[in-house]
Amino acid sequence: MGAHLYEEIRGGTADPQKLFIETPAGRRITYAEAFDEAGRFANALRALGVREGDRVAVQVEKSPEVILLLLGCLRAGAVFLPLNTAYTPAELAYFIEDAEPALFVCDPKGREALAPLAAARGVGAVETLDAEGAGSLRDAADAASPAFADAQRGADDLAAILYTSGTTGRSKGAMLTHENLASNGRTLKEIWRFGADDVLLHALPTFHTHGLFTATNTILLAGASMLFLPRFDADEVMRLMPRASAMMGVPTFYVRLLQHPGLTREATAHMRLFVSGSAPLLAETHQAFSARTGHAILERYGMTETNMNTSNPYDGDRVPGTVGFPLPGVDLRVVDPESGTRLPDGEIGMIEVRGPNVFVGYWRNPEKTKAEFREDGFFVTGDLGKIDDRGYVHIVGRGKDLVITGGYNVYPKEVESEIDALEGVVESAVFGVPHPDFGEGVTAVVVAEPGAAVNEAGVLAALADRLARYKQPKRVLLVAELPRNTMGKVQKAALRERYADLYES
Ligand code: AMP
Repeated sequence: MGAHLYEEIRGGTADPQKLFIETPAGRRITYAEAFDEAGRFANALRALGVREGDRVAVQVEKSPEVILLLLGCLRAGAVFLPLNTAYTPAELAYFIEDAEPALFVCDPKGREALAPLAAARGVGAVETLDAEGAGSLRDAADAASPAFADAQRGADDLAAILYTSGTTGRSKGAMLTHENLASNGRTLKEIWRFGADDVLLHALPTFHTHGLFTATNTILLAGASMLFLPRFDADEVMRLMPRASAMMGVPTFYVRLLQHPGLTREATAHMRLFVSGSAPLLAETHQAFSARTGHAILERYGMTETNMNTSNPYDGDRVPGTVGFPLPGVDLRVVDPESGTRLPDGEIGMIEVRGPNVFVGYWRNPEKTKAEFREDGFFVTGDLGKIDDRGYVHIVGRGKDLVITGGYNVYPKEVESEIDALEGVVESAVFGVPHPDFGEGVTAVVVAEPGAAVNEAGVLAALADRLARYKQPKRVLLVAELPRNTMGKVQKAALRERYADLYES
């Protein structure tokens, strides 16, 4: 036995000379090289004092080194802990205090400011990697041997801690085991039919589960290749597409590709699969993409804590506006959020999941862990949704985004769908802010097409006979764009904050 996930990755690679990563700059890394690099990084980690079970916190730009270091951590039995590059030093101080890493890896530019912050919190070593993958940790790996005796890590040992995006309250560290990651990668490889001949366009960030695990582990377990872009750039993606067979992206990627004149049936002819997730894909985007290219985007649903939970089918209908069926081995149910009793299909409630993909708890936070798991092992996702009569799962939004107005529940998605269907509307976001009479007032921000005659009175008039009175927004505000994070999620908390005083008398 070696390190569970790493062993499985090695086992999945039939040909060590096969290409694993290629960058647009022309760097090529084969599987054999990646395994050697992982050995070098593992040796470098040991030399820096990283022992089995220690956390390695990593806040660096995307480069192949992030993946090589991840593999090095697996071999060394260390726990990989990626951090969003947008975090400020004040936020970092919290993560470092909470996670107590043995090693902190940052950009060379940040080292001077961050090293004292890390040292003051007991971090033994601070090393660097830049956007090219160069830095003091790379140097240490270069000087180290590729030969490494892998740590003995079993299925239930921790492989990674990923902090949740934490839109309310402090972000929590989700503890993911080797088998959480391995089982999900295995399943995705099967259901999405990945094989050694696949070439994935990888334009996602590597600090988030989507780019780090969903995309990368599927490729690693299939022994396939990735075209590894530093970031999403529509021109670059279109340029490389003829060489790729699949892409995994957030909805914004598809919205931007649709704005690209190069997106045609011919340009995508070589592709066999486009996957979308991390945020809802508008049914309209799905339809526009299929009209332009002939490809039905495959939408799936997952989260940091659970890896992937559901997916539209590879064969069969990929239904716009749904996230498909529970993955093999994943139990999914929709329950009444208060009582926890299962609801009949078609009714909206809290989505709960159970399976080998689901994390083992929040790092050093047994109360939160207890609060979000049911007695029978189901994890309360915080997402509201329903199962339709064909078994497809629909997500209607985060539970905490539910608007309660005059005692009635309003699901923002229902109102957004009505607004989005109006002539001249690109998209909308509906949320609740304090209202003196109703507790919360349903509020909408709307992005209109350039030059379209969309205004508040018009939207309200159009909704009047389409939605029950209590669901109709009290105000409709036109905005240039919706606030989104890097994963394409609309930041409802930011909207609630911005418009907090809207109904103050
Ligand atoms: P994260 O942990 O950052 O991956 O965020 C997970 C959350 O993103 C989920 O709990 C959902 O609210 C949302 N999400 C992910 N995929 C989808 C999807 N296909 N449709 C709607 N929401 C999604």
